[in-house]
Amino acid sequence: MTSSEAVSNRMTSKWLVDPAVGIEVNGAFEPCKQWTGALDRGGYGKVSVEGKTCRTHRVSYALEYGSVPEGMVLDHLCKNRRCGNPLHLDPVTQKENVRRGDSPVGKAMRLFEAVNK
Ligand SMILES: [Zn+2]
Repeated sequence: MTSSEAVSNRMTSKWLVDPAVGIEVNGAFEPCKQWTGALDRGGYGKVSVEGKTCRTHRVSYALEYGSVPEGMVLDHLCKNRRCGNPLHLDPVTQKENVRRGDSPVGKAMRLFEAVNK
């Protein structure tokens, strides 16, 4: 068993797929894969990988696609921080992630763009 298979197996029992919670992806409903294990202060799932604490959505994305592109963060399209469904994770720059979010800065960025079209 490779180390990534071992991590994946260890995480399997802690994912909960609730068919009532999810988003549409490419025209089809895709349920969230919600982490039921430990969370960090930001509300993201966390897991130890080779002695290092990692966010579960990043691990899930890396297990599916190989790695998170350098310099990118993963935007939860479903707005569910516990979710690790790779189809719900969009690699974007930190700036774009803020722009898409509900923070006052994100709202101001979108308003600025709308006004300056
Ligand atoms: Zn999701």
